[in-house]
Amino acid sequence: MKIAKLSGNAEIFHTIQGEGKSSGLPCIFLRLSLCNLHCTWCDTDYTWNWEGTPFSHVNDTQPGYKKFSKEEQILEAGIEYLLEEISKFNCPNLVVTGGEPLMQQKDLAVLLQALREEKIIEHIEIETNGTLMPIADLDLQVDQYNVSPKLTNSGNPDKLRIRPEILDWFARSPKANFKFVCAAPKDLYEIEELIRSFGIPSNKVILMPLGTSIDSLDEREKWLTEICKNKGFRFSDRMHIRLFGN
Ligand code: SF4
Repeated sequence: MKIAKLSGNAEIFHTIQGEGKSSGLPCIFLRLSLCNLHCTWCDTDYTWNWEGTPFSHVNDTQPGYKKFSKEEQILEAGIEYLLEEISKFNCPNLVVTGGEPLMQQKDLAVLLQALREEKIIEHIEIETNGTLMPIADLDLQVDQYNVSPKLTNSGNPDKLRIRPEILDWFARSPKANFKFVCAAPKDLYEIEELIRSFGIPSNKVILMPLGTSIDSLDEREKWLTEICKNKGFRFSDRMHIRLFGN
């Protein structure tokens, strides 16, 4: 399994869930490598797969992104290593994030099953961009899908970021909730169009401000909280940025 590395360290860490439905919950985060999108505001470009995978960023020319070598950005980890590392934290909640974790769902299914069997983890969430379908036969044993469909503000081509049959599946899943990253008030039109098109229940919709600084969060939260009040959507801050700066 390909685990993301940041500054040479595998990204397996214990913190609080900073955003979304489980905001505030103590969790172990496991960040997987590889992503099939390339958002212009991505803050984890060290998970991008630059070569040799089904979706490669080899032709991405956006400024500001650093191209990492496989050795710099990926730790190839086996199940035994991951069980040992995850069990060290003595926390029953796991968030699998990325990148796009469902790119590695066959390996992930084996890991999650082992974590359950060994009674290391009780609650499992997967963060996904909603462009890949969980394979039914794999039985990922997930409690919660935090689905974050990317809007136009992400800079991804429409056909990559919106996969109708997959969003339709998540909209019907009792395990899914939907987080939208909002850059400007006009994003609401796009969000409402997605809600209408896929029949997403409004009580499963969470709006979050775009931003990697406290100032940018503060500015966007002023109008975003008003939208949530008016439309009945849930608002989510991004506590990890306020508390830890990332
Ligand atoms: Fe980055 Fe997530 Fe977008 Fe992938 S889906 S490019 S990890 S923000």
